[in-house]
Amino acid sequence: MKNQERISVKLSKFHTSLTLSLKALVDERRASGLPVYDFGLGETKGELAPYIREAGRQAFDEGQTMYSDPAGLPELRAEVLKWLGIEEEYPADSVVITAGAKQALFNVFLAICNPADAVLLDAAPWVSYQPLATAAYGFPVMVIPARGDANRLKCDPADLKRNLRMRPHAKIFVLNNPVNPTAQLYSLPEIEELLHICVEHEVFFVLDRLYWRIIFDGAAYPSPIVNPDTRRWLIQIDGMSKNFRRTGGIRIGWSVAPGDVARAMVNLQSHYTAGPARPAQCAALAAIRHSYEPGLPGELQDKRDLLHKEAEGMPWVKIWPSPATFYSFWDVRSTFGKKTPKGERIEGSTDLSEYLIKEGGVITASGAAFMQEGYLRLSFATEVETIRDGMAAMRRGLEALV
Ligand code: PLP
Repeated sequence: MKNQERISVKLSKFHTSLTLSLKALVDERRASGLPVYDFGLGETKGELAPYIREAGRQAFDEGQTMYSDPAGLPELRAEVLKWLGIEEEYPADSVVITAGAKQALFNVFLAICNPADAVLLDAAPWVSYQPLATAAYGFPVMVIPARGDANRLKCDPADLKRNLRMRPHAKIFVLNNPVNPTAQLYSLPEIEELLHICVEHEVFFVLDRLYWRIIFDGAAYPSPIVNPDTRRWLIQIDGMSKNFRRTGGIRIGWSVAPGDVARAMVNLQSHYTAGPARPAQCAALAAIRHSYEPGLPGELQDKRDLLHKEAEGMPWVKIWPSPATFYSFWDVRSTFGKKTPKGERIEGSTDLSEYLIKEGGVITASGAAFMQEGYLRLSFATEVETIRDGMAAMRRGLEALV
């Protein structure tokens, strides 16, 4: 066997998730004593809530460390429906508990896709949709908005219909609302229209609502209306990683799906994870059982305001409003063709992102990772000083371009 044949053709084309490789870069710079302003990784910081910590510890103390139901703890499955406000619409066995939202998405693709079935992705897809769909033998295709970025890269009904016409083998449309990376929020009429198009075409509408509590300026989350028609085609994905402080590593997510899809995913899961770690499920149960604390969204809204104030008048960039999530999305196309003080030309957003790291230690995520060349994503789930000093370093870096 030749060396290049040892790994499957499919997996040998995979790269590490860009956002995780940024974490390595941050650690490396910190270890060398260089300044770092980390706007790269999308993770909330701060203290873990005591009731979440206690529940995890208690589970270990009580020896809740044996195998349990591969679909997840029954009480957690029931609680997920209440957390999402859909306990009247679904039975608890529609819920499958997973090791993070990533696994919930992978389960969905594995359960639904036959080889080469098209998986339509929204116009600025989150980094892992494409590799996960590919690994499940799906064929990921990005829906390109006809209006370009005039609607801030949101897919409109005409975009979806056009893509469904072009892809008769489409089986899934994945939409993240609110959107990582663009921070945009689809309204209820927008969601409803897209969902109804999927129902009409008998295509699964996979709604990834991982940031659904991080909504600003008093807006409410536009939960799709569940009725017998929509329930057949709607799959909702959610989890612990974004709506609480410091919970990404608990690695608990979930899906709510029609009975046949949920059963297929439980069957699959019984063979490959046997369900996620039980103490982590106990911690997740405590988190979503507790009344939701508005402190985190409130604090993130203040940080968004601070970042946008500090970034005012920044040269070469257009900053989009952020009605939700903890990201700020910047159009940086005007930097293309400019030269750095060392005479290097900025040819794309990855060049700019690398220049900002090397020049001033400012870590951002290049839009190229989200199939949107021309943009940078900044996470403001970070300390106030990082936002202040990091925006000053960013300004110096951008002003130095000629
Ligand atoms: N979906 C979106 C839009 C995300 O941003 C992420 C994580 O960054 C995930 C899914 C995966 O979440 P988890 O960490 O719970 O696996």
